[in-house]
Amino acid sequence: MLKNLKAFHLLSLLLAILLSLAGCSSAAETEAKEQPQRPILIQGPMPIEAEKFAERLENVEVVTSGSTYEFYIGTVEGYPVIVSKTGKGMANTAAATAMAIEKYNPAAIINQGTSGGHDPELEVFDIVLGKRSVSVGALKTGDLKEGAGIEPTQWKPMDLMASEGSAGEDPNAENIRYYDGDEGLLAAARTVKDTHTEGKVVEGTIGSADVWNNEVDRIKWFHEKYGTSVEEMETASAAQISAAYEIPFLGIRILSNNKTNNGAYNPDTAAANQDYVYEVVKEYISSLSEN
Ligand code: SAH
Repeated sequence: MLKNLKAFHLLSLLLAILLSLAGCSSAAETEAKEQPQRPILIQGPMPIEAEKFAERLENVEVVTSGSTYEFYIGTVEGYPVIVSKTGKGMANTAAATAMAIEKYNPAAIINQGTSGGHDPELEVFDIVLGKRSVSVGALKTGDLKEGAGIEPTQWKPMDLMASEGSAGEDPNAENIRYYDGDEGLLAAARTVKDTHTEGKVVEGTIGSADVWNNEVDRIKWFHEKYGTSVEEMETASAAQISAAYEIPFLGIRILSNNKTNNGAYNPDTAAANQDYVYEVVKEYISSLSEN
């Protein structure tokens, strides 16, 4: 009898604990539902690389920071998406990325636009998903005396993130720094590959610098030494800032030109890339709601 009573007390205690746990989790669920959804940020440098996507947003509000940085704040199928026209080059992109992260707390960032081919297998209208990106402008020259000339093929990579000390003196800084594309974003991009019909979609390395390389031997040098598939002027900069804030990031770049196989510049590629990225964003949003 006494034993039964004890067992009964124990059971009711367990039941009470279980009930209160259930109560806790449902309170946490409601809280999560009430939190605002973090937006997806889509960056494009030039007007032709951002406005096509911006036109497809619903409920848009345009916010300008400074005189040039435009943010189109809207939704895609009800989910918050912000298109950021960053302007060209590494500095503009870094500024626009940091600004967007501080102001809008994005869940993920895609930097997209046009690029020049480094791989002769790639044609104008092919798209490169940045499995990784790299600055091809962070370089250390050889140590040459006056009159000894300039030897660009002897230049070494310089990793500005290697330490807080002098990159010029530090031999550990003579490495190539790659930034990895986010696996979740890559998975979404792979899923919708077939929606891009004007060319193929491949995975590769995006090289960025405030340089437009027209020397085919120099392009080949980067292709061999850094494994670059394409070059442009923004992705590695946005990747670096996204990494500093631990925000999932992916570069998606279409070839608008390719010096290595005489692919002539075609500005229509910018719109085709935005069409593809729109599909990637929809796929990514649906993968977010599944998790
Ligand atoms: N030819 C274009 C110039 C674009 S400016 C025009 O006159 O309109 C540079 C932009 O194009 C940058 O945003 C850069 O990311 C991209 N880009 C495309 N191809 C490039 C290449 N071969 N080298 C460097 N940037 C390139």
